[in-house]
Amino acid sequence: MVAGMVAGRLAVVTGAGSGIGRAACQVLSREGATVIAADKSYDSAVDTIKTHTALACGASDIGDHTAVELDVADQASVKNLVQTTLKHYKTRSTIVVNSAGITRDNWMLKLSDEDFDNVMDVNLKGTFLIMRAFAKIMSETQTPGSIINISSIVGKYGNLGQTNYSASKAGVVGMTQSAAQELGKFGIRVNAVLPGFIDTPIIKTVPDKVREAILKQVPLGRLGEATEVAELIAFLASDKSSFITGAAIDITGGY
Ligand code: NAD
Repeated sequence: MVAGMVAGRLAVVTGAGSGIGRAACQVLSREGATVIAADKSYDSAVDTIKTHTALACGASDIGDHTAVELDVADQASVKNLVQTTLKHYKTRSTIVVNSAGITRDNWMLKLSDEDFDNVMDVNLKGTFLIMRAFAKIMSETQTPGSIINISSIVGKYGNLGQTNYSASKAGVVGMTQSAAQELGKFGIRVNAVLPGFIDTPIIKTVPDKVREAILKQVPLGRLGEATEVAELIAFLASDKSSFITGAAIDITGGY
């Protein structure tokens, strides 16, 4: 029997092939969860399961963990994830982490409709599609659960070049709070995490000058690590946060 904050539970993680999603898989598996790692890049999701999650478990094989190819913005793909989950694990879907996300940054005056829509489709609608699909299963099977949606601090304060992204992330917070109100009666908690600037591939496109300017505004004086966000995710996934729902929690180094 594996010990840990989420021992014996199933964790479905989107965006699991990189950054915060991958770190969430590592920490949740370390804490005893069986992980379904879902990502648009199947190979990256497999890598998460094979290398990172196995290492996190201290195991020599990949155990029960599963990798799934997923496009959160595509209804059929979400359905496929649900079917895979049900086939393998029946009603043990108790943790859902929505970490899939993209940026298509540009000055608002230059931002195309396409780049606006793409960011909305993945970050906002994708989070909705996953949340709705798994909340349905959890409520119908009376399985208590915890849904953690990754928003962003720029959803609260905005950011240059990110009108599309900040709108999508503000939307995630509102959606999280509404869903928490609807799902509490089923024993399903829904919370949002608002990271500041975390050292993952998604911020590699931020120019050095902008990065330096940002760091000047971070009291802790550094970028965050994906694992630091994953520890908060694991806390929200676990019973240690049993009275927290509808919350939007900053994790920014004080930014
Ligand atoms: P990342 O780019 O390292 O990882 C994102 C993952 O999402 C990638 O593996 C990518 O393949 C996957 N993905 C993209 N589109 C997808 C889709 N349509 N369907 C399924 N998977 C898809 O970025 P990250 O930093 O780990 O970001 C994770 C989440 O955290 C995102 O929602 C991001 O907006 C948010 N966030 C990140 C930061 C930061 O500074 N890194 C700050 C605030 C919020």
